[in-house]
Parts: sequence; C-alpha cells; structure tokens
Amino acid sequence: MVPAVLRVLQETLHLPDERIHQALLVAGLIGLAMAANASIAGAEVGCQGEVGTASAMAAAAACYLLGGDAEAQVDRAAETALEHYLGLTCDPVYGLVQIPCIERNAAAAVAALHAASLAVLCRGEDRISFDTAVAALAEIGRDMSPKAPGVRS
Ligand code: SF4
Repeated sequence: MVPAVLRVLQETLHLPDERIHQALLVAGLIGLAMAANASIAGAEVGCQGEVGTASAMAAAAACYLLGGDAEAQVDRAAETALEHYLGLTCDPVYGLVQIPCIERNAAAAVAALHAASLAVLCRGEDRISFDTAVAALAEIGRDMSPKAPGVRS
C-alpha cells in the first residue's frame, strides 16, 4: 500500500526520489510507533493492526509529501486513516489471504490519500491524537475473543 500511494504522488506531483525516501522514513516512524505501542500483526490484533497500520503509514507519508507539518498534520493524517479500521477483524475467506485482503488494501490506499488531503486542509485542534488511536487499537485487540477470526492464526 505505501509504495502504491507514494508512486501515485511521485508521478502526479513530479517529486524527486529524495522526497520519496524522506516520505518512507515518515511512514517507517509511524509503523514503528504502532508496533511498539500496539501491534502490526493481524493474527494478534486483527486487520486493524495490519491494514490499519499500513493505511496510517501511507497517510502520514502522503501528508508529508503534500506539505504537511510533522507537528500536527502528519499526526492527524495517520490518526484519520487509522480510525476507520479500529475493530476490523482478520476474516480471510476459506482461510485464504487473498479475500478480502487485496480489496481492503486497495480501499485503504485510497483512504490514506483522502486522510492526507484532509489533514493538510483542516485547521484547528484535533480532538483525538494518533497516540490515542493507537492505544485504542491495542485495547480493542486485547478485547478480541481468542475464538474470533481476528485473533486466529
Ligand atoms: S483480513 Fe487479510 S489483510 Fe487483514 S489481517 Fe487478515 S490476512 Fe491480513
């Protein structure tokens, strides 16, 4: 998802490779924060930790490329992208990871671009921080039943 979003932005905005490398660092920091404070494993916390994390990473990187400031707008982009996946379980059809995963990732890539645009356009204070959304993800993951598809390995 992250490469797809970055490629779209590089080709449409004619960005140099150096900017893409910097955006990858931004995405990586978001992923590291989520791995350290929640989980990025679908088998552990459901799809929110997998597709949700990827969408937050892509949104943060896209926001950076759109000129978002690291203090507020990149944080807002990651939070906006992530919040729509909170509670999403891992439910591969017949145990195959192609369905619904491919469609979920494609839709989340579009959501990441929207979240980045919103973050740059919006003014004012955010009511929910990225850290709060990540904490919610961790709590929801802990609450998931061991018998639910979202935590079945
Ligand atoms: S539904 Fe697919 S993308 Fe989501 S956690 Fe499960 S295997 Fe991964």
